[in-house]
Amino acid sequence: MTEAVPPTPTSDFVRDEIRVDIEAGTYGGRVQTRFPPEPNGHLHIGHAKAICVDFGIADDFDGRCNLRLDDTNPDVEEVEFVDSIQEDIAWLGYEPASVRFASDYFEQLYAWAERLVEQGKAYVDEQDGETISAQRGGYGKPGIESPYRDRPVDENLTELRRMRAGEYPDGSRVLRAKIDMQSENMQLRDPVMYRIRHSHHHRTGDTWFIYPTYDWAHGQSDAVEGVTHSLCTLEFRSNRPLYDWYLAHLPLEQTAPKQREFARLELTHTVTSKRRLRALVEDGIVDGWDDPRMPTLSGLRRRGYPPAAIREFCAYIGLTRTNSRHDIELLESFVRTHLNRTSQRRMAVLRPLEVVVDNWPSNDDGTPYVDHFDVVNNPENPDDGTRSVPFTGRLFIERDDFAEVPPPKFFRLSPGREVRLRGAYLVTCTDVEKNDAGEVTRVHVTMDPESRGGTAPDGRKVKSTMHWVSAEHAVDARVALYERLFSAPIPGERTGDAMDDLDPASVELLDAKVEPALADTAPGEVVQFERLGYFAHDPRTPMLFHRTVGLRDEWANIQKRAAR
Ligand code: ATP
Ligand code: MG
Repeated sequence: MTEAVPPTPTSDFVRDEIRVDIEAGTYGGRVQTRFPPEPNGHLHIGHAKAICVDFGIADDFDGRCNLRLDDTNPDVEEVEFVDSIQEDIAWLGYEPASVRFASDYFEQLYAWAERLVEQGKAYVDEQDGETISAQRGGYGKPGIESPYRDRPVDENLTELRRMRAGEYPDGSRVLRAKIDMQSENMQLRDPVMYRIRHSHHHRTGDTWFIYPTYDWAHGQSDAVEGVTHSLCTLEFRSNRPLYDWYLAHLPLEQTAPKQREFARLELTHTVTSKRRLRALVEDGIVDGWDDPRMPTLSGLRRRGYPPAAIREFCAYIGLTRTNSRHDIELLESFVRTHLNRTSQRRMAVLRPLEVVVDNWPSNDDGTPYVDHFDVVNNPENPDDGTRSVPFTGRLFIERDDFAEVPPPKFFRLSPGREVRLRGAYLVTCTDVEKNDAGEVTRVHVTMDPESRGGTAPDGRKVKSTMHWVSAEHAVDARVALYERLFSAPIPGERTGDAMDDLDPASVELLDAKVEPALADTAPGEVVQFERLGYFAHDPRTPMLFHRTVGLRDEWANIQKRAAR
């Protein structure tokens, strides 16, 4: 499958600033970014935006982008997540210049912490977390200085070393930067740098009893790696002065990196928080992190989203400085456009109704005659060629495509009505069979032998063309149809809890009859079921298909409505 190159974004405030930095030689013309996920869950569509920003900007400026796993919290991190994060980034089409871990820098961070202590810029506080946070105050509420704030340097150093040596229990002490307890910015009110945790770490094992906080680790790791532009989401805006403060107090060999913030990606009907996604998995509401209803990259992959469509979407929404929520239909529109170009067309009947062609011929030996039609695989790409589809006197059509008593404007099959079976014959309904409950179980038709290929020589018109599958050749398949996992556009808006908007019926499993060529669909391949939508072959379970998106462009409708 060939993938389109994402449109090169013209510009945005981050790229503009980088151009200025290049011009001014701030970093000697270098551009380096990083993507810094915490390995405490699987990546989601929000992370895809950050990945496209971090890797995309590095690409645009011939720079480099590292993957840095922010593994500073040993209690929640797992190797499983480290692996899946790398898999997801590769799937999205990016390759880190280097894979790093914040824990690679634990020694350096510690050495720098001692240095701050020696300079009287950090101290060990023995108060408990509650007291410390109460003393921090708030907006318009003064901070209260800790009684440990003016400890002598020697004592601080001894205490810090004993913390590191594991001599103290969890929570009994922290190392704090000594900045300004009256700062307007709460982050600068003597932030915590180290906390004590007697926990096993997935990489450093049992060597550490203290772990750095996000703020103490992040900018310093950036500096060690040579990052020039450290891009993150808006909620870190108020951390920026602290980011700068730490770097300004360290003996760096090169110009300090700069943090810049952009808007988070939020989508309607979607939650993008690892904590909530984890709850869905742990509560058994979905069938794992890669359930096709999940907005995780592994879920979207299994659902059949092409990575190029995700990249194109991210490029289209671009980088902005205010948070907003995008319609999920916009993302789906990119997916649909991409799949329209690339996917093979197939016929599948999701809710089969049997059709008997009463005037279908038999072979001389009495077996039913089998006709074959060459059908175009992808009208968007002639190189995809054609395939041969068998047709016999016993077929399946979609139950919805038949009505014994047609409602107004129903032009599909009904008694006395002639329709086209796509690419095959014109048929007219002559009779129906029913069960004791009065349900139609079988439909009888006659075909016009002159209409082979789907048109009658007299050129008469029919109002409907329907897909079909030869019953004798049909292959069984399971098809999963999905609704939105969260029925409300803004999950949680109503009650404050997104879980209240969960749609328990967001998946419907059907036993379908599909054309034989579908048995050759590769794992993970996405095909178009004619008239129905795009469907992804499950990567693990043969003949299980997930509906990726329907055929109708709902985004176009939303725009039309908005224009009115
Ligand atoms: P979550 O709240 O889901 O746990 P997080 O921000 O804690 O997300 P991290 O693993 O720390 O997740 O994030 C790695 C990077 O991805 C960060 O730079 C973060 O800003 C970015 N990121 C996370 N969520 C989004 C989002 N919805 N849109 C854009 N970027 C995001
Ligand atoms: Mg986080």
